[in-house]
Amino acid sequence: MPFARRKLSMLMAVRGAGVTDLSTLNAIEAVDRSIFVPSHLSERAYEVTTLPIGFGQTLSSPDVVGMMTQALELKKTDRVLEIGTGSGYQTFILSKLCKEVFTIERHEPLSTLAKKRLTKAGVKNVHYTFGDGFEGLPEDAPFDAILITAAPDRVPTKLATQMAEGARLVLPIGPKGKSQRLMRITRNNGRFSESDLGSVRFVPMLTGVAQESPDSN
Ligand code: SAH
Repeated sequence: MPFARRKLSMLMAVRGAGVTDLSTLNAIEAVDRSIFVPSHLSERAYEVTTLPIGFGQTLSSPDVVGMMTQALELKKTDRVLEIGTGSGYQTFILSKLCKEVFTIERHEPLSTLAKKRLTKAGVKNVHYTFGDGFEGLPEDAPFDAILITAAPDRVPTKLATQMAEGARLVLPIGPKGKSQRLMRITRNNGRFSESDLGSVRFVPMLTGVAQESPDSN
């Protein structure tokens, strides 16, 4: 199938998954997904599936990226914290929809590679941190939106405290390999409310930074 047809069929699948927000769909359409996968997989970049990016980690499926992005209800003035930079694909999408993105990754080589890719693509509103996302970034808090792209067992307390008034936190919750729920937590008048956005499957959110070896996670 030619490249443009593959991209179109991916966009149809994203819409089919319930993503109707036009700015989210436009951002997904604008970003070339093939620069975020290892070169031997570039033919598969527009498949509606997760793809391996090394270190036991995966590039999230575009329908899930769409659902999570839409759920964040981003405004152009928002400052956003992302946990789990991974390939940088989701980071790129976020960067198009808000003012600034602060992204944290516990695998240093992934953080470095994502920075290289996004800089080459001309993205200027992203700050990259190699570190443990459970800590968040207290010195840059509070954030208008927080996205976690790996699954913790429960809402990380330090991240909840870094939410601004009116902020949205979108994250998968649940144990590895078991059924996880995609949740949205909203902070209003100092109170937190949550909604369940459906079943998902993510790699686990792990504590501390990774000690590198290509097959560690
Ligand atoms: N959004 C990324 C998803 C990558 S998979 C993409 O589409 O490419 C999830 C990522 O979260 C992995 O890169 C993993 O290393 C990272 N991760 C897991 N626990 C983390 C933590 N505590 N802090 C920062 N990153 C973490």
